[in-house]
Amino acid sequence: MAIDSDLAPRLAMQYEPATYRRRIAGHDVIIHCHHYNARLQRTLEGARGIDGKGIMVGAAETVFADQIARALRPDDDEARRWAVAELLYRHLGFGRIDLSKVGADEVTADSSHFVEGWLAGLGETADNVCSFTEGYLQGAVHAVTGASVRVREVECMARGAARCRFVLDRGERPAVAPDSKDPPIPAPREPGAGWLRSPNVDEQAIIDAVVGMPMIGDDAGLIPAFSVYLANMPADFYNRICIGFVEAMRGLGRDKTAIRLLISDAEHCGMNTFRGIMHSPEWDGLIAPMVRDRADALHAIIAISNALGWGDWHVTAHTPRSLALESRYGYEAVGYREYRGLAAAPQCAMLTGVAAGVMELVYGEGTVEERYGTFTAREERCVSCGEASCNFAVEQVE
Ligand SMILES: [Zn+2]
Ligand SMILES: [Zn+2]
Repeated sequence: MAIDSDLAPRLAMQYEPATYRRRIAGHDVIIHCHHYNARLQRTLEGARGIDGKGIMVGAAETVFADQIARALRPDDDEARRWAVAELLYRHLGFGRIDLSKVGADEVTADSSHFVEGWLAGLGETADNVCSFTEGYLQGAVHAVTGASVRVREVECMARGAARCRFVLDRGERPAVAPDSKDPPIPAPREPGAGWLRSPNVDEQAIIDAVVGMPMIGDDAGLIPAFSVYLANMPADFYNRICIGFVEAMRGLGRDKTAIRLLISDAEHCGMNTFRGIMHSPEWDGLIAPMVRDRADALHAIIAISNALGWGDWHVTAHTPRSLALESRYGYEAVGYREYRGLAAAPQCAMLTGVAAGVMELVYGEGTVEERYGTFTAREERCVSCGEASCNFAVEQVE
């Protein structure tokens, strides 16, 4: 435990109010729930004709090799470097890995964000589900020792094992790909114009309260909050898996389907996460007293999502049947520019889906499944295409 408290300051979160970004160990991190992360994984790995699992593992390997390296110090010995890799995983909310036998090519995990997500929403599985952890471990081995290895899960809690177990294969492998990006496009510094506010909702107080909540993993490496498990996921990981998925599907002429699937995952996520938040003690204590009507709830939800790092976004028009949002520095659009340059079409599937999900939650009735699809959202302009902001239009389906 002593080593943990000693290392903790390296992993402290910094929040940047101008861009609504949360940063840990040199990476912008985005808070999402276990439902979203498991659904994204199922979308990638369930698509026929592409190597979705390879995209997941490769993205985690590259991104965490980089993030762990940034958390290391030149005078760390090897034991300390492994301790950082173990702690970062737990701290971000992915669960608990035991690296004490990594020298014997074995790693175990006795709690897992992705297993929780899989069991909560996706049911029985014939396969081990911890692709993300395989990639994380490959990245960790690279950051700590410089080696490129293949990590394979051989037992998984999602299939009833007492713990997930991974083995390292040290055979010939290509070098770990660096997390190469162009420098970020400049972030807007001036407040935007034309943003709607509610006189009842103190958005800054909400942002301050949510940013002040310690959203870091507990002893088991999980972040139970708002009736879901949260995790701090590097934006680079989301960007790499989503760009990789759409490009792989384009090779099959199915890129529009790919984007539609990513939007659908986010639509469910928006409802699940915010339904949890609206039924939480945190909401009752801080936010419920500000909420006089459904429009107030919507403004409060957008403020919370800005504290979670989702998009620097703001309401520009709103009726009970329609919503317009502007996002100036969302991680999907900015990340696309960094990885690929200018896009030919809008890229912000997560914000598009959440925009619909939020309206379904605030104005819909019934279960999540009954509400799903009752609003439709589209991104009309996108920073990834060179526009000054991303603009989303949501309408009730007739
Ligand atoms: Zn597993
Ligand atoms: Zn966009």
